[in-house]
Amino acid sequence: MLLLRYVLRADLRRLILLLTVGSVLVTLGNSYLAIYNVQRTLLVENTLIANQRYASKVAESAQMMLNTAQHSIAFSASLFAKEPLTSVKADEEVYRLVNQLDVFNSAIVVNSKAEVMAVYPETTISKGYVLPENTRQSFYERKPLISNPFHSISGHTIISISHPIWNEDGQYLGYIAGTIYLDKNGSLSRLMREHYFTDHSYLYVVDQYGELLFHIDPERVGENVAQMPLVQKAMTGFEGSAEGRNSKGIDMLAGFAPVRAANWGVVVQKPREQVLASLDEHLMRVFWQSLPLAILTLIVIWFLALLISRPLRQLARNAERVNEKDVQQSILAIRSWYYEASQLKMAVLNAIGLLNDKIHQLDTVSQTDPLTNLYNRRGMQRLLDEFEANNEPFSVLALDIDHFKAVNDRYGHDVGDLVIQQLAFQMKTFIREGDIACRVGGEEFLVFLPNTNAEKAFNLAQSLRESIASTQMPKVQRITVSVGLGCVHESVTMQNIDLAIKQADRALYKAKNAGRNCVCFSDHVSSSKSSDH
Ligand code: GH3
Ligand code: MG
Ligand code: MG
Repeated sequence: MLLLRYVLRADLRRLILLLTVGSVLVTLGNSYLAIYNVQRTLLVENTLIANQRYASKVAESAQMMLNTAQHSIAFSASLFAKEPLTSVKADEEVYRLVNQLDVFNSAIVVNSKAEVMAVYPETTISKGYVLPENTRQSFYERKPLISNPFHSISGHTIISISHPIWNEDGQYLGYIAGTIYLDKNGSLSRLMREHYFTDHSYLYVVDQYGELLFHIDPERVGENVAQMPLVQKAMTGFEGSAEGRNSKGIDMLAGFAPVRAANWGVVVQKPREQVLASLDEHLMRVFWQSLPLAILTLIVIWFLALLISRPLRQLARNAERVNEKDVQQSILAIRSWYYEASQLKMAVLNAIGLLNDKIHQLDTVSQTDPLTNLYNRRGMQRLLDEFEANNEPFSVLALDIDHFKAVNDRYGHDVGDLVIQQLAFQMKTFIREGDIACRVGGEEFLVFLPNTNAEKAFNLAQSLRESIASTQMPKVQRITVSVGLGCVHESVTMQNIDLAIKQADRALYKAKNAGRNCVCFSDHVSSSKSSDH
């Protein structure tokens, strides 16, 4: 919502910022995602390989232990082949098997009638005990065997490793067997425990039917887990690795390897979640480490966005206030450091220049009388404002063409206009630089003479009047003018200015009354009247 509002109030800087920050964030996000995916795949693969190697190592150790056990049993059986199988000999042998190797928990010699001949240590069964039918696998099969796990009479889950005894004549004398408890007192369990990991990995061993021979949880030993997909893979007799669920529904990364001597499978597995937890940590570290640079990048982007957008922004701001006086100055001050901005700056300056020219033209037109190009009343008012502002004293001549109505009547209005134009031209050429003539009525004019005292002004007015009177006018030959004079010397206020103009008007009236073609002061000097008739 906030972002939307931000975009809707879009200006160039925001757009650049949004675009660049957006792309940086997308790129960063994308990189994190790519890193995460690659690392995850690597981690999963590595864990699978590590677990497989580990399972293979453990399987090898178990294989070696079983080989040693089988060799010992086979060796004992071979001893009985050479000498007669006596009870004493059997006792010695079972004792040696258990104590010498630290592999077997107990050992037993069974004769050809399935009677126990020797047992060590003597627990629940003793010499002379006849094996029940369901425990006679080794007895009947008459070959080296590693049995499936079974519950012994003593209450332990055990496996037995047996070897038949034949004498040199090939006569079957019975068998000798060593047993290994699968609980924590057994050598197999000890071996596995040595390999127990602490990093959430664990291992278990299954027999060819999927029954657990070893598990970190001793309660589960003997449980059949053959239906588990991972166990099924481990029971194929090949080494490998796989992802799958354990019995509790937890995703596992497992490696497995066979113990071929006994058709067992060793599985080493680690919860997938635990493997990936380290990845999350790793990624967080990457994030924190890359954060300062990312922030720095964003700051640089922000700064660049500012730098790029600033000239255009300033141009836009100034364009909003083209009417203001100092706008050209502030546009000139804009540092347009790249092509587009500098072109725009030039264009805006040109446009403002043109606009000002146009305004100036209109201004001039509105202050100028179109017939004579002299100031009209509006132009005159601006002039008076300047006199007031600069406190500039001046004299003023009020000038009126004599009997102009008669000119119009006699020669027509157009000729009258021509006369007015000619008179204006003559006045302009006659007056000094800095003097200003205005047309304030049909054939009435005011001439302002800045910094000119009454006397000088009077002389100037006389000369002007004479010059007019002696000039050839188009068609009408000659015209005369009457002139009234007014002054403002000190304190150039608008009030005094008005008084001076009125003074000049009154003086003009006087001049008319005095017979025309003369110059008069308002209050005194009708003597200034010229005799130039
Ligand atoms: P006076 O000596 O008393 O000033 O006599 P006058 O005839 O000049 O005075 P009046 O004020 O009676 O007449 C002024 C005449 O000026 C009336 C008008 O026809 C004429 N006039 C005013 N403005 C213009 C103009 O723009 N063009 C022309 N051709 N005539 C104008
Ligand atoms: Mg008049
Ligand atoms: Mg007149």
